[in-house]
Amino acid sequence: MKVNRLGFRDYRNLKENELIPGPQVNVICGDNAQGKTNLLEAVWLFTGGRSFRGARDQELIAFSSQAGAVLALDFEAEEREQTAKITIGRVAKKRAAQFNGVDQPAASSLIGKFCAVVFSPDHLSLVKEGPSMRRKFLDAALCQRKPAYARLLSQYSRTLAQRNTLLKDISYHSELLETLEIWDEKLSGLGAAITIERKRYLERLSEAAGEIYDGISQGRERFAVRYDSGLLRDGGEEAGYRERLFSLLQNGRKEDLNAGFTTKGPHRDDLLVTVQEKSAREYGSQGQQRSCVLALKLAEAALLAEALGEKPVILLDDVMSELDASRQDYLLNKIQGWQVFITCCDPNSISGLSQGRTFYVENGEIRG
Ligand code: ATP
Ligand code: MG
Repeated sequence: MKVNRLGFRDYRNLKENELIPGPQVNVICGDNAQGKTNLLEAVWLFTGGRSFRGARDQELIAFSSQAGAVLALDFEAEEREQTAKITIGRVAKKRAAQFNGVDQPAASSLIGKFCAVVFSPDHLSLVKEGPSMRRKFLDAALCQRKPAYARLLSQYSRTLAQRNTLLKDISYHSELLETLEIWDEKLSGLGAAITIERKRYLERLSEAAGEIYDGISQGRERFAVRYDSGLLRDGGEEAGYRERLFSLLQNGRKEDLNAGFTTKGPHRDDLLVTVQEKSAREYGSQGQQRSCVLALKLAEAALLAEALGEKPVILLDDVMSELDASRQDYLLNKIQGWQVFITCCDPNSISGLSQGRTFYVENGEIRG
């Protein structure tokens, strides 16, 4: 997948213009607050999702615009030139999309038509913070690959919420206790299926990310990520997960009733990211933590490419800081065959760029 042209009007601080990127690395350089991230965010919106900065659509329209923002993308996918257009109306308060000239029922209809993987500094929380970000990363990656997983996940969440409500109700109506078993059974079936999908995906992710990390660190450090789940702790066959989760739920009943929520199951699981067999969260340096997230993101892209039969576009926002020269060199020159967009503030960090294009952004103006 490759972006051939991005056109924009009244989008954030970007002056009406277009960006014609090259097929490989595109570096977007400029001082703080000039519009570099805005540019990546504009490309990202064509994946059909929300802004990776969590911004609301109305925030994307230029302050000065009465009408609204317009974005247009010419890209290559399935060996054909495709076009997409997004408009965000000021009055209509709605994001609308066209694909190959045809109005789409919703902006989210672009999902799967244009694919990208993004790294932004916010994603460092993947290594630095608690498990919920890591579960989200894992679930989002699996949902992109497999729509059936998204259905499974929402069924699980619904069942979990129902069991939790029941746990609270039991303290007032003890006769409800006997109905708990039905939810234990349902939850263990769905939970076992989720665990299997996550574990299998992580085995492949760990291998792919390990190879990438090896490149980033020039073979100096070993990276791994594995699934940390109560269900897997003592090994055992996948076929037995359902029974094990069922007995975990049954044995944890007293604890659950006291807590008023379900204390066991995949909604409490985590990923363990290690460098040199030590937890990256607890012992990793800034550069190592950044390298870990990058390796995970690039590996996600590699596995998505396998599933799609097409390489997603890679968007790397402010990834260069805290990386030493050899790690920066890997990003600039070793990611072959992918279209990459990298933003940076310091022009020195791209002095090692051997191929590719550089753009400069100043106060919303882009020079190529
Ligand atoms: P940094 O290096 O600090 O990350 P950046 O070049 O990535 O900077 P952006 O986040 O792309 O900066 O752009 C920020 C600029 O865009 C700010 O000056 C901000 O005021 C402006 N901006 C954000 N939203 C809008 C909007 N809706 N209309 C006009 N300007 C906006
Ligand atoms: Mg930025």
